[in-house]
Amino acid sequence: MARDCQCTFLHPDEWVKGKLIGSGSFGSVHLAMSKATGGLFVVKSTQSGAGINALENEASILQSLNSQYIIRCLGQDLSSGGHKLNVFMEYMAGGSLSDVAEKFGGVLEEEVIQLYAREILLGLKYLHENGIVHCDLKCKNVLLGSSGDIKLADFGCAKRLKEIKANGVRAAGSWQSIGGTPLWMAPEVLRDEGMDFASDIWSFGCTVVEMGTGRPPWSDEISNPTAAVLKIACSSETPKFPTQFSKEGVDFLDKCFKRDPRGRWTAEELLNHPFVSRNSMRRRTRKQQHTCSPASIFDIGIHDSNDYDDSESTNGDEFPSRNPFSRSCGETERTARRELAEGDLASSEIWITVSSTKRACNTHPLQATEGVEPTSPL
Ligand code: ATP
Repeated sequence: MARDCQCTFLHPDEWVKGKLIGSGSFGSVHLAMSKATGGLFVVKSTQSGAGINALENEASILQSLNSQYIIRCLGQDLSSGGHKLNVFMEYMAGGSLSDVAEKFGGVLEEEVIQLYAREILLGLKYLHENGIVHCDLKCKNVLLGSSGDIKLADFGCAKRLKEIKANGVRAAGSWQSIGGTPLWMAPEVLRDEGMDFASDIWSFGCTVVEMGTGRPPWSDEISNPTAAVLKIACSSETPKFPTQFSKEGVDFLDKCFKRDPRGRWTAEELLNHPFVSRNSMRRRTRKQQHTCSPASIFDIGIHDSNDYDDSESTNGDEFPSRNPFSRSCGETERTARRELAEGDLASSEIWITVSSTKRACNTHPLQATEGVEPTSPL
C-alpha cells in the first residue's frame, strides 16, 4: 500500500522559482521548473519553526503514500543554513477547489460536486486504510488537475492514528494546538475528546457544503468565532445545507453530519451512497462511449500504464510514479506519444468512427477519463 518514496534532493542550481501561486499560515507556494527537464512542479517553503515542523510532517507523511488521489511529494531541501525548508510537490494546474469555485461564480454545480466528492472520498478511504487522519480537510486543501482529477493536499496537520492513540487525547493537545480550521472541525475535536477518521468525515461534509454554497460552513457565525466554536461543539445543529441540493444530496450530508462520530458514515460507506455512486456509473458509461479501440502498439502501452478503474483500485497501489526531475521517467510513453503525433497522425488507423464523426484517441478534458492520469508535463 504505502511506498518507499524515491525522494529527490535538488540543489538550488537545478531549479528555478516561478510566481507565487498560494500561501498559507506557515509559508508560501511557488510554481517551479526543473532546469534539467523543463518540467513544472511546486515548491512549498517555510522559515518559521512551527512551519518547518508542519512541513516536515507533511513531507514525511506524503512520502509514505502512493495514491492517485493524494498529492505527490517529489523531494525536499533545507537551505539558508538549515533555516529554510523547501518541499517539492507535483503541480495541480487548476489550483484549489476554493480557487476553482471562485472562478465559476462561487458555487459549483451539484453534478460536479458529486464527481469531486467521490474522488475526495476515494482519497480519504486510502488515507484511513493507511491509518492517517488528514485533520484539515476543506476546499482550500483539495487540488484540481486540468483533466478534472482531484487530489488531497496540505498534510501539515495530518496525523497517524496510532500516534494519536499512543499519545492520548490530552497529550495531543487542545483543538487550538492540534491544527486544522475550527469551522471545519468536528464537534468531538472542538470538545477535545479526540480525533479519528470520523472527524475527517465531518470536515468532508463541511467541504461539500462549501462547494454547494460558495461559503465556509457556519458562515452566519463567522463574525463571532467563539460563538461558532460553541455552537459546533455543544449544540445539536449542523452547518446549513446548500438550498439547491437534491434529496439525495441532503441525505448524503445528513450521513456526514451525525454528531455522534460512531453514527457517522465511513468513507467506504459514503462511496456507496447514490449521491456519489450513481454518478460513478454515469461516468463509467460516458467513458465507455468515448473509449477508443487501440490503434497501435503505442496505444496499448499508454493505456496499460495509466488506465485503471479506481472503483476497484481502492488503495492506488499501482499509481505510476512520475517525476518532473527525471528524464527517464515516462520516456517510453513520451516517445510513443511523440511518434504518434509526428508520424502517425496522418494515418487513418488511429482514427475510428464514432457516431459518424471522426475522433482521435486522445485524452480530452471534456471526456470522462476515470482513473486516467493526466499527461505528464514532460
Ligand atoms: P494552510 O494555511 O491551510 O495550512 P499551507 O501553508 O499549508 O496552508 P497549502 O494549503 O498547502 O499551504 O497551499 C496554499 C495554496 O497554494 C493552496 O490553497 C493552493 O491554492 C496552492 N497550492 C498548494 N499546493 C499546490 C499544488 N501542488 N499545485 C497547485 N497549487 C497548489
